[in-house]
Amino acid sequence: MLGPGGWSEDPERIAPKLLEWRDRWTGHTPFLALPGSTADVAAVVGICAAAGQAITIQGGNTGLVGGQIPLGEVLLSTERMRAIRDVDGDDDVIVAEAGVTLAAVHDAAAKAGRRFPIGLASEGSATVGGIVSTNAGGTQVLRHGMTRSLVLGLEAVLPSGEVWNGLTRLRKDNTGYDLKQLLIGAEGTLGVVTAAALKLSPILASRAVAFVGLASPEAALKLLGRAKAETGGAVEAFELMGRLGLEFVIRNIAGQRDPLSGPHPWYVLAEFGSGEPGASEAAMERWLASGLEAGLIADAVVAQSDAQAAALWALRENQSPGQKPEGATWKHDIAVPVSRVPEFLNRAIAAMEAFAPGARIAAFGHVGDGNIHFDVLRGEGAPDAPHAARRDEGARIVHDIVADLGGSISAEHGLGAMKTAEGARYKSAAELAVQRAIRAALDPRRILNPRVLF
Ligand SMILES: Cc1cc2nc3c(=O)[nH]c(=O)nc-3n(C[C@H](O)[C@H](O)[C@H](O)COP(=O)(O)OP(=O)(O)OC[C@H]3O[C@@H](n4cnc5c(N)ncnc54)[C@H](O)[C@@H]3O)c2cc1C
Repeated sequence: MLGPGGWSEDPERIAPKLLEWRDRWTGHTPFLALPGSTADVAAVVGICAAAGQAITIQGGNTGLVGGQIPLGEVLLSTERMRAIRDVDGDDDVIVAEAGVTLAAVHDAAAKAGRRFPIGLASEGSATVGGIVSTNAGGTQVLRHGMTRSLVLGLEAVLPSGEVWNGLTRLRKDNTGYDLKQLLIGAEGTLGVVTAAALKLSPILASRAVAFVGLASPEAALKLLGRAKAETGGAVEAFELMGRLGLEFVIRNIAGQRDPLSGPHPWYVLAEFGSGEPGASEAAMERWLASGLEAGLIADAVVAQSDAQAAALWALRENQSPGQKPEGATWKHDIAVPVSRVPEFLNRAIAAMEAFAPGARIAAFGHVGDGNIHFDVLRGEGAPDAPHAARRDEGARIVHDIVADLGGSISAEHGLGAMKTAEGARYKSAAELAVQRAIRAALDPRRILNPRVLF
């Protein structure tokens, strides 16, 4: 049915798809389906649905909560669905198949004089199907919103095997429930996304990037408020990092160096963008000068070229890879109201210092969205196993603080197979019942991603 190249049972071919990014576990599958078209996907899902055979869906395999790793299910990979069907400047839309990488979307949009404003450190591998299904966030949410706000239409194969063609490119469509919004962020439980119509933005005429040293998250929050007010909403990104995370990057990633002359407890990477030539640079200068004068900024460097901007961004994008050689880590992807980020950090750091003395805390993230990646690494030179064994207990303490501050235990990565039980703990019975009813209506036999979500 799938033709040559459309499937595999070869363990060597399958092996890379069974390893999750953090090397925390390895999956297994009897069969890898490699559909090349929407009709192929419909055929695979239809046959599996009829046989009661569960499927795990995989895009670029960069997900951080294990939803794409099969444990005995058929593995359906979108890697052969790589067509960009259309780029249209009048509609400001790109229509791309599920297996197209985010980097390829950026390239195709740039060729048409547009941009797709979602940036992830994993964009070379993360796919359209993956970002839609996880409602990915990234570094530009502050200005452009999450994937949810950038999808105009979707095409998907429903758990029954039926194709739903919702690939419209409408900005307005009030005709009942919005099915695409139901599928976005559903982590593959309500359908296999086969293509998406994504909203494009104009390219920027000016861009300014600065790396700033500061004393505290409180100072970062004040600087964020000033940046938003002083630029008329032109803040493209506002990323916070602690000193330890920067040290890991410098120590473990080749070619990285501290751009400032001395150490600071915290750092902000700020990017401003504008349609007006020179406007971003001027706004950056004003913001830095007023921040220095107010004593909020201790030191700063401004990129003078695209290469320098990329070097500053590398310090942020390598935060996770920089931690990898440092051993066992408890990772938390949390969100709190923006105003409560400093309080979250102060409380969570104190709680972890008491619970796991000697552990190393590396916190970074999208402070402009209230989203912090709060990572607790084992002590320097300590063994991995005892630290890893206390992961769930540590997470509970962090998550309880998040809940107390009115936050979410998964800001952008989803719940996947890894955090579903923990996620259920913080939802009301009423909400869980609705979520389960929606799933049961679409996928009564729980064919798609059966171990993911409620
Ligand atoms: C270094 C690094 C940095 C990251 N930074 C960010 C970040 O800043 N923001 C952020 O949001 N995420 C981030 N991530 C997480 C990850 O890149 C995103 O979740 C991404 O959207 C996953 O895309 P993928 O194609 O790799 O999906 P996969 O990992 O293959 O799958 C993820 C989930 O989506 C489902 N899925 C995949 N394709 C489809 C499809 N076609 N139809 C239905 N379901 C599907 C899978 O079953 C799984 O549940 C990062 C990951 C890494 C490794």
